[in-house]
Amino acid sequence: MNIVLLGFMGAGKSTVASVLAEKLHISSVELDEEILALSERPTISAIFSLDGEDAFRRLETQVCQTWGLVSPVIVSTGGGVVERSENLDALRQRDALFVFLHTSFATLQERLEGDSTRPLFQNVEAARALFDKRLPRYMNAADCIVDTDGKTPEAVASIVLDEVHRLTGNRHKTLRPSAMVQACTCPSVPSASTEVCLIWGDPVSHSLSPRMHNEAYREIEVAEQFVFVAAQVQAQELEQAWVGARAMKFRGITCTIPHKQAIIPLLDELDPLAKKVGAVNTVVRLSDGRYKGYNTDVEGVVLPLKERIDLAGKRVAIVGAGGAARAAVFGVQDAGAEVLVLNRTLEKAQALAEEVGGSAYSLQDADVVEGCDVIVQTTSVGMTPHIEDSPLPSSVLRPSQLVMDAIYTPWETRLLQDARKAGATVIPGAEMFVYQGVAQFELYTGCSAPVSTMKRIVSEALEGTWHVEKERAS
Ligand code: NAP
Repeated sequence: MNIVLLGFMGAGKSTVASVLAEKLHISSVELDEEILALSERPTISAIFSLDGEDAFRRLETQVCQTWGLVSPVIVSTGGGVVERSENLDALRQRDALFVFLHTSFATLQERLEGDSTRPLFQNVEAARALFDKRLPRYMNAADCIVDTDGKTPEAVASIVLDEVHRLTGNRHKTLRPSAMVQACTCPSVPSASTEVCLIWGDPVSHSLSPRMHNEAYREIEVAEQFVFVAAQVQAQELEQAWVGARAMKFRGITCTIPHKQAIIPLLDELDPLAKKVGAVNTVVRLSDGRYKGYNTDVEGVVLPLKERIDLAGKRVAIVGAGGAARAAVFGVQDAGAEVLVLNRTLEKAQALAEEVGGSAYSLQDADVVEGCDVIVQTTSVGMTPHIEDSPLPSSVLRPSQLVMDAIYTPWETRLLQDARKAGATVIPGAEMFVYQGVAQFELYTGCSAPVSTMKRIVSEALEGTWHVEKERAS
């Protein structure tokens, strides 16, 4: 697999590429040097001034086509590689992970002002305009984004490696082809012994679960043992569907709206945490044929938080008091956090807070959030199409906070944008979705879930990008 580094001139791509190449014991290539080797000019500036930018871009595309066929290699690209989509296509000819090294314009300016070898940075205003134009292109092209401000090339390279590892499992070590390629070349066909998992809901056609689970089955090569499908089951059809599910011995049933509570009396056994939450989103057939209900929305909230912070003793504000809030409240309380519940309807916040010995507030008392370490937003405020709405004013957000939103359309809600601006660490709702699916996957298959594949499927489907946040003290 190749690692392709993208970023504006001066982002540190060349140095980081060398560090990565050394760590991984593979070669790196500097595309600008390859362009020079093809040209008769002594410098990139000379190609620009004597032959023009178009001539440079043509050479660049040629070089991308050549190096896109070589693997494994770390590719350090020129800042303008994103100007032509054919460059990116060419660099993806082999399995490749695109990493955007994001550096703020202020830092670039410090590094590059006065550097006569950078033809496009001779005029700061023009460079700023170019930066603004290219930024969304880098973001769109990237599989992941690594912030480089204030970090050494070694630190950036370590983050890139962690990220590559996270997104690809161990593929960068084994150089296996991507899951996509495997899916195309080795189709798995269900057989008479294939276990059926499914999602029930109404509506259900929009669900990402079948795609996410089936790709994950392929990734860990259990697609002949398991298949995941969706079935539209209306509220009044649940009992009938349940009789059918038992008779057909389905392996796992994912329950979404409107079945999360209604399924409970039909089950043989209930996980204690699901019982506290009062909702089940995952039903598993046990080895003795009985069916047990779980709530993996709890893991959906708690696992992403625990990856970043030890929740024990932390003050956690849960915004909302509906179904997702219940999963969050019981999950963080179980992890040892102090819980504050804020809700539009105060009585609902009070009832929920009372169940966990927490405190309750109306959304009008949002100031209380200022003193919290973690905020988990679970209302529907800010969901597409109302993307400008936020349940909390930006004034209550702090740089030390970890802010998670359950909403995943849009990928980054107004609240998360405000939190990012305030310097906080943000977790998009897509991550909650992935992790409830991870827990579900493990209950259904008994295998470790390929988290990176599941994240990739979700980011592709929702057109989002996983950010690598700055290091934070826990
Ligand atoms: P729910 O049970 O209906 O609860 C809705 C919550 O939103 C209630 O607390 C409600 O407050 C509040 N609310 C609704 N409109 C509001 C408004 N205009 N102003 C202030 N508060 C408002 O819904 P849910 O099942 O918990 O789902 C909530 C959100 O979480 C949805 O966006 C859902 O898509 C998302 N979710 C995401 C995942 C995931 O995997 N990422 C999983 C589950 C849910 P009141 O009590 O005052 O009505």
